[in-house]
Amino acid sequence: MGTRYFEILKRAVKAVVKPVLQQWPLWLTMVLTLIPMAWSALDYHVLRKHDFPVSYLMECFVNDASVVAVLATFVAWLVNVVRCRRVLKWALYVLLLAMWVASLFLLRNFNTTFTPQILQVMMETNSGESGEFIHAWMGAFGTRRAIQIAAFTLLCILLAEWKRKPVADWLMRRGPMAVASVALSALLVWGLWNWRFLVRPYHSVYDLEKTQTGSHPNDLISTLHKSILTLRFQADEADAAVDCTLREVTTGNPTCDVDSMDLVLVIGESYNKRHSSLYGYGLDTSPLMRAERDRGLLTVFTNVISPYNLTSITLKNLFSLNSLGDGERWNDYPMWTAVMRRAGWQVDVWDNQRAFMANELFTASLNMYLFNPSVVKMVYRDVNEDYFEYDELLVQDYFNCCHLGDRNLVVFHLMGQHTEYAARYPRTADWEVWTTDQLPGASVPYLDDSKREIMLDYARATRYNDFVLATIVNFFRNRNAVVVMLSDHGEEVFDFRDFMERDHNPVKTPEMVRHENEIPFLIWYSPVYKARHPERVAAIEAAAARPMMNDIVGQMMLWLGEVSSPWCDSTRNILHPAYKPSPRIIYDNIDYDRLMNN
Ligand SMILES: [Zn+2]
Repeated sequence: MGTRYFEILKRAVKAVVKPVLQQWPLWLTMVLTLIPMAWSALDYHVLRKHDFPVSYLMECFVNDASVVAVLATFVAWLVNVVRCRRVLKWALYVLLLAMWVASLFLLRNFNTTFTPQILQVMMETNSGESGEFIHAWMGAFGTRRAIQIAAFTLLCILLAEWKRKPVADWLMRRGPMAVASVALSALLVWGLWNWRFLVRPYHSVYDLEKTQTGSHPNDLISTLHKSILTLRFQADEADAAVDCTLREVTTGNPTCDVDSMDLVLVIGESYNKRHSSLYGYGLDTSPLMRAERDRGLLTVFTNVISPYNLTSITLKNLFSLNSLGDGERWNDYPMWTAVMRRAGWQVDVWDNQRAFMANELFTASLNMYLFNPSVVKMVYRDVNEDYFEYDELLVQDYFNCCHLGDRNLVVFHLMGQHTEYAARYPRTADWEVWTTDQLPGASVPYLDDSKREIMLDYARATRYNDFVLATIVNFFRNRNAVVVMLSDHGEEVFDFRDFMERDHNPVKTPEMVRHENEIPFLIWYSPVYKARHPERVAAIEAAAARPMMNDIVGQMMLWLGEVSSPWCDSTRNILHPAYKPSPRIIYDNIDYDRLMNN
């Protein structure tokens, strides 16, 4: 009886193991290339002398490889039974190598893998932008190393395929076969157990995130599965948010106490406030706004942050009336622009990033929300159609075609200091100011000339941004106007380490957060407004040092627009005496103030 079951088991194991041994090069390639995070952990352990416990490394490798092994075993079986096995096999190799190059590129340059954010960036990126992106990263050390590793992998594959048959024959002998059977069976059992994460049903982004606690496989199959689901749920979230917004703009009952006013919101991009002379930078990158401050028309807020270092998730929360610190999701609340529209404001949105992403408009998750066709029709009076090389041209385009009414809300979303800083300001003598040796911190050892050039471009782009803000302010100078200026998030420009842009590693340090999440926040008021509303200007000035996160800026905008609505909440309006800041939760689970005060 016992021997009979043992025979059946033996035969079953053999049926599984045999194709794997016959297609051992393909099986191994799959298992070894689809676990980039495990390799990255090893890299970290060996090269940076970081004391990762070896047991943790083993766990990474076994966990990730076991998930891939299940699929690889199936693929090996498939290759053995189909007719066009050569075509299938080499097609698989091409696919695997492409994934491997992409994974290495992301890991080596950005220390990340195919997260939802990266997939989103890939989908939102048009060809012009990706050309710019590839150009920026082509020569990077990480890119060169990624290509070297991929070339070495290809060489190994060719060698292995060349010797496939004799090695397979040897593996099929009794001894090696027995060892392989035991090892593979153990790996597959563990892998099937790990596949529970892949096959169970999920219902929301939060649902997905919960499974991430504890030891969770980080192989490419698991990562892509989670990322694709996350993006799908995000599309549902945008639908829900649009529904709330349309309900508000058609059935809401706000009132407005102001007859005639211009309220402007300017959203900058990738603006590290420490590179502005308003916040103490060594070069005078903000002379025009400094002059406004000295004239008593501008208040500089010093303690405002953004909840993420990404544009789209930050702006969704900024335009929604939710509060992240109170655990409210952006997709359950209407846009504050819809409340203002319903209260009688004319809303115009001029966005220099909208048409920049036009090729993939319907996949871009921010545009799915902000420029949903119904929202454009019901909430906005007018939106821009074009993309402009420089922000001043966007602003001028608005001034050329705008028809101001009694109550005007204008939102400008700029390119600001996005990625290729050198492309963000006109290359004329007016803007090609300063030299690299004038840069604050120019002598730090990790900087070379090309990095100093990048820092210089950032300083010039920041100064150009100051000019764009001044252009806006000057247009409204003789009207009853308030202009609010902030950035979606910050940026690293070799500030404290050899790194630029933004780090998507989930582990955050105070230095990272200081540069990537702390943002400039300015409120300008025209002389007319100041004369008419001294008490409101006093309220603005009194609020300059209060803590805030830019997800609740809508409450302040409603108050500035003198809109009353059931949505208004003075405890979330930084300009109100009743303001009571909620915990500033960044990246969904980090308490900013606790992190910085530790
Ligand atoms: Zn951004």
